[in-house]
Amino acid sequence: MAKPEEPQKIPVGVSSCLLGERVRYDGGHKYNPHITNTLRKYFNLIPFCPEVDIGLGVPREAVHLVMVNNAVRCVSTVSPKLDITEQLINCAEQQKHWHENLSGYIFKRNSSSCGPNKVNLVDGNGKVLDHHKTNASGVGLYAQELMKNFPYLPVEDEDSLSHRLIRENFIMRVGIYHCWQSLLTKELSLKALSAFHQDHQHIFIKHHKRFAVELETGLVSAEQDGDDIKQVKDVYIERLTRLLKIIPASKNL
Ligand code: SF4
Repeated sequence: MAKPEEPQKIPVGVSSCLLGERVRYDGGHKYNPHITNTLRKYFNLIPFCPEVDIGLGVPREAVHLVMVNNAVRCVSTVSPKLDITEQLINCAEQQKHWHENLSGYIFKRNSSSCGPNKVNLVDGNGKVLDHHKTNASGVGLYAQELMKNFPYLPVEDEDSLSHRLIRENFIMRVGIYHCWQSLLTKELSLKALSAFHQDHQHIFIKHHKRFAVELETGLVSAEQDGDDIKQVKDVYIERLTRLLKIIPASKNL
């Protein structure tokens, strides 16, 4: 008897070095067992290294984020004239065709290309700047463009994913976002959106009861007022994303 086909795993992007690929500037990798052993069970991990993609070899000069005239540039730590800012931004743009099929992304922390937050920023003299004293958020430039293109995509870095509750929450967020993407493949109606909400409501309530009730109330009043489905959808996914980032029982972290 033929074996039943395994269900397709959900596609999630990942910084290549976290899977053990030797793509770092020094020829090394940053293999992460939580990602490889745990998350691989759930997801089809799709590796990508933006610095290799833009043609920098391995090994290569290290890069860092430098504040220049209130703007963030990604430049070499060895040859300051080597500036890859635009190349990293363009790289994220050029990869949109497969990014749009992803249901999550796992980034390497503190990388000038891939870090999703709190990446070190330096001034022109190489002194590390305090994020609170600058207007810049310290986000790797490839990651920043990707997150701008897909603002509701669940993303985390490997450091956050070493916390069990964050990891479990990420798995759940990716699953729900995947269902959301499926919902959007058909013509969306208020009825279909309400059905999606009802299917997941028990999860939303666990995260934040008041926000979950607000989500539902928003749908009911949109139905009563005959609101435009596009607007309803945009407000809904924005609120839902905020809600799902709340970790239930986060005090235990
Ligand atoms: S650019 Fe990203 S994927 Fe490539 S080595 Fe650096 S952190 Fe890893």
